[in-house]
Amino acid sequence: MVDPVPLLIMGSGPAGLAAAQEAVRAGVGALLLDEQPTGGGQIYRALGEATGERQKTLGTDYAAGAPLLTVLSAQCLDHQPGATVWEVSPDGTVYYTRQGQARAVSAEQVILCSGAMERPMPFPGWTLPGVMTCGAAQILLKGAGVFPASGAVLAGSGPLLLLLAKQLIGARARLAAVVDTTPADNYRGALKYLPGALRTPGYLLKGLSMIRTLSASGVPWYRGASGLEAIGDDAVAGLRFKVRGRQHEVACSNLFLHQGVVPNVQLSRSLGLEHHWDGLQRCWRPILDGWGASALERIAVAGDAGGIMGARAAEAHGRLAALGALNRIGVLSETERDRRAAGARAVYRREILPRPFLDRLYRPHPDYLQPADDTIVCRCEEVTAGQIRKYVELGCLGPNQTKAFGRSGMGPCQGRVCGLTVSEIIAQARGVPLEQVGYYRIRPPIKPVTLGELATLEQPEDA
Ligand SMILES: Cc1cc2nc3c(=O)[nH]c(=O)nc-3n(C[C@H](O)[C@H](O)[C@H](O)COP(=O)(O)OP(=O)(O)OC[C@H]3O[C@@H](n4cnc5c(N)ncnc54)[C@H](O)[C@@H]3O)c2cc1C
Repeated sequence: MVDPVPLLIMGSGPAGLAAAQEAVRAGVGALLLDEQPTGGGQIYRALGEATGERQKTLGTDYAAGAPLLTVLSAQCLDHQPGATVWEVSPDGTVYYTRQGQARAVSAEQVILCSGAMERPMPFPGWTLPGVMTCGAAQILLKGAGVFPASGAVLAGSGPLLLLLAKQLIGARARLAAVVDTTPADNYRGALKYLPGALRTPGYLLKGLSMIRTLSASGVPWYRGASGLEAIGDDAVAGLRFKVRGRQHEVACSNLFLHQGVVPNVQLSRSLGLEHHWDGLQRCWRPILDGWGASALERIAVAGDAGGIMGARAAEAHGRLAALGALNRIGVLSETERDRRAAGARAVYRREILPRPFLDRLYRPHPDYLQPADDTIVCRCEEVTAGQIRKYVELGCLGPNQTKAFGRSGMGPCQGRVCGLTVSEIIAQARGVPLEQVGYYRIRPPIKPVTLGELATLEQPEDA
C-alpha cells in the first residue's frame, strides 16, 4: 500500500499555481495535474513558450503570469502535464490518464482548480463548421500564434469578447465585424453595482481601453444585436442579426461566439457536493467555506471552479485553499495559516468587488438562454430546444429525466456544454425557478477514457 500524497492539486491555472506555491513554501510535496501540455491555465496558457512578439499581442495581463509559472520547476513539486482527471472520489483518490495509461493516486487533501468554461450560446446555425467560441480562438492565438487573417466575426457579450477583439486587432487580423448582444437594459441594471466596481477601478479602465481599441480600429461594431443566425451550407458563410429592428448580414469564414464564463463543476458535481444557484452569475457553484473547503473533508475547490472571480482573485483563492488544506493535514497551525493568509484574503476581497457590476452588465441575452425550438442544444446527441420543451409537455420535470426521454447530456461531454441551457429551458417551460429544476446528475468518468487505458489501471493499494 502506497502512502497518500499529502496534497494533490488539479489544474495549473492561477488558482492551482498559487496553491502549489504555498505548498512549496511550506515544504510539502504536492502533485499538480493538468490535462494541458503546459502550465498556466486559460489566462497564462503557453506563456512559458510564447515569443516576445506573441506576449506583446496578448497584452500585459498575459505576461503578468510569469512569476507564478516559476513554481513549476520547484523540486518538491511533482508537475504532471498532459494528465486528464476523469474521476475524483470522496476519499481523495484521483483517477487520471496520462500518456495512454490510467492511474490512480490517493491524496490526504485534494484541491480542485478546474477553472471555468464558456457558457454555450445556442442559436440557429451555431453547430456549423467554422463556428467556435472566442475562447477557442484565443487558445489558438496563445498556443500556436494562429489566427484568421481576415473574415472573422466575433459575436456575443462579455469581457473576453472585447479582449479577443483587442488581441486580434493587435495581431493585425482584419475582422469582418464585432456583433455585441449585450441588451441595452443591462447597462441600466448594472448601474447600481457601479460604486462597488469603482473601488477596484483597474477592471473598468481595462474595459475602456478595449473599447477604445475597437472603436479606433474601424472594425464594424454592431451593438444591441439580437436574433442571431449563422448561415451557410457546409460551413459558416455569414451571420444574420437584427439591430433595432433592422436586419443585417455580414459574410464571414469564421464566427467566434462568447457570452461569459461559468464554473466548470463537472468534478464537484460528480462528487455529490451541494451546489447553490448564483442568480447574478446565472450558474451553479459548489458550497464552500472561506478556505475553499467542501463538505467532504479531503476535498477543496479553488478559483473559478468555485464561482467566477477572475484571474487575480483565483490566484488569491488558490492560496487560501492551500493554506486551509495544509492546516487540515497538520503542517500549519491555525495561527500560522491565518498569518500567511492575511495578504491573500485582502487581495481576494478587493478583486471580487467589480464582479456584481460585470455579472449584471454581461447577463446573457434571453435569446440564447431560451433558444428557438429548432436550435440544437445538446450537440453530442443532437437534441433540440423544441425536443426538450416537448419532454416537459410529456411530464419531464428535470434535466436527468431528459436523458431517458432523448439522451441529452449523455454524449462524450457528459452534459458539460448543454447542462445549463437544458435547465433554463425546463425551468421556463414548467414556470418554476431554475433552482427547483436542478442540474444533471454527473457521474464519472467526466472525460472520455478508453477500455485500453482502463486496463492499465493499478489501484493505489495494488502498487
Ligand atoms: C476559454 C477561456 C479563456 C479565458 N481567457 C482569459 C484571458 O485571456 N484573460 C483573463 O483575464 N481571463 C480569462 N479567462 C478567465 C480566466 O480563465 C480565469 O479568470 C482564471 O484563469 C481562472 O483561474 P483558475 O486557476 O481558476 O482556472 P483556469 O485558469 O481555467 O485553470 C484550470 C485548469 O484546470 C485544468 N483542468 C480542467 N479540467 C481538468 C481535468 N478534468 N483534468 C485535468 N486538468 C483539468 C485546465 O486544463 C486548466 O489548465 C478565460 C476563461 C476561459 C474559459
